[in-house]
Amino acid sequence: MATFPMRILYCGVASKFIHTMPAGWFLCEYLKEKGIPCEELYCNINEPIAKAAQEIEERNPDWLLLSVYIFNVVFVKELIAFIRTSVPHCKIVAGGPEADETIDADHIVVGEGEEALYRLLTENSPKIIETAPIEDLNKLPTPYTKQRLAKSKGKMIYYESTRGCPFSCAYCMAGLTRRVRCFDLERVKEDLVNIVASGAEIIKFTDRTFNADAKRTNEILQFILDRFQGNAKVCFHFEVGGDLFSESTLELLSRMPQGLVQLEAGVQTLNKESLKAVNRIFCQEKFEKNMIRILAGGNIHLHLDLIAGLPLETPESFRVSFNGVYALKPHMLQLGFLKFLKRTPIRAHTDAVYGKEPPYEVISTATMRAEELAELKGIERVLDKLYNSGRFAHTLAYLEEFEPTPYALYLSLSRHLLPLGDWGEYAVQKALLSYQNGLPYIKEVLRLDYFCCNAVHKTPSILKRARTSSFAAFLKTLPKKEHPFYEEFAFLPQKGAGMYRVQFDYRCKNRVTGRYHYDILNEFGIYPQ
Ligand code: SF4
Repeated sequence: MATFPMRILYCGVASKFIHTMPAGWFLCEYLKEKGIPCEELYCNINEPIAKAAQEIEERNPDWLLLSVYIFNVVFVKELIAFIRTSVPHCKIVAGGPEADETIDADHIVVGEGEEALYRLLTENSPKIIETAPIEDLNKLPTPYTKQRLAKSKGKMIYYESTRGCPFSCAYCMAGLTRRVRCFDLERVKEDLVNIVASGAEIIKFTDRTFNADAKRTNEILQFILDRFQGNAKVCFHFEVGGDLFSESTLELLSRMPQGLVQLEAGVQTLNKESLKAVNRIFCQEKFEKNMIRILAGGNIHLHLDLIAGLPLETPESFRVSFNGVYALKPHMLQLGFLKFLKRTPIRAHTDAVYGKEPPYEVISTATMRAEELAELKGIERVLDKLYNSGRFAHTLAYLEEFEPTPYALYLSLSRHLLPLGDWGEYAVQKALLSYQNGLPYIKEVLRLDYFCCNAVHKTPSILKRARTSSFAAFLKTLPKKEHPFYEEFAFLPQKGAGMYRVQFDYRCKNRVTGRYHYDILNEFGIYPQ
């Protein structure tokens, strides 16, 4: 097809500026290869809808293609309303997990869109087009082109090396197709080289269970190690099955330089009954062994996920999961809430109440009341602000001593912190200083955390304490210009109460934790020259 008589525009609506839209990239590249020019326009849900609508109007497309997800469905519906008025001749095609008859589109594509879209644009098609998964992914041209990558500078690149998942968890769309299809490994390697060469710093694999096939996993990881181990900026993120690692993969991971690889593993719950109810295969013993081993290496950022509101989960069983997973001390622990996504089997669990609008989040279940789930919302907020920010690691370790379990601590913290209107660092520090009427060394641990995370030589007024005369005298001996930063503490988590001088090295930041290195100096005042 030499020329195509119609003007096609794909509009990708991301959730944040830094996110890219691989689904749109694949669709557009496929159409282009088939001789159908396809313009691309990207925006995000934080921008005014009118701005996106105006840009679409200026391009005056005959066909507008939109990918619809739970995070952008509201934006997309309003955008379509604008376009119906401003570009009335434009035909609208919606695809993606949220595309259904509630969207005012001329055509709805259910399933993988590339071939369906081509047929739609070249022959008569029904309003709803259901597609089978594409068997041979290698017939899709790579969308990771130099031009597209150049336009994505500073953004996170989502990379698809497989489609489908070998598992079928009842709440997940990826589990609907089951069969995993893979892009050719040589093509994956070439793409990764091009993506890294474009200056991308975070490459997030969208593969649903990256380590399901150990041989393929190892080949990709080995390539990343060989090719990018000297690159101190790039980071590859993978979603993995925590219980699925082979010995060879664990060994390979142990050799990764600090920060080159990040892993995210969904635990969801440790409650066997709940796991069975959602058809999730999970071996807790293997999972814990693998996580402990990966964390012990100190070279890989590990993110674990829990889901609240699963069938048969009770408040008690959830607490057991929370405490068990927290005890592993991952770098991030994300507490999510069960979502009843369209077309997923979890919707058959009729004893649950969930929001009828996106994100279709659980409200109550037969075993968890709405108030019990609401309590977990508070814990989620505190977990995100304190634990997952990585900025309060010493403070939390200190606070853990005052409660019988991690769950009890986060519940207590959530009750203390939730009235806060402002969740900025200063407001949180102030609230923590008054937690339990002011714990003895809370200011010391907060100050230690502050200097571990901020390369500054100044103590915030709220965390200041009077210096001892010997420390003040020591500071006077320092040269006027460049010198390391020293601070004095009356308590250190690893030492207990005492008087300690600490030297912070702001040239040395841990790529996994994002925190600066420090040394505890000899408490009798012997300092390095
Ligand atoms: S939750 Fe994970 S393992 Fe389960 S089907 Fe979805 S992607 Fe696969």
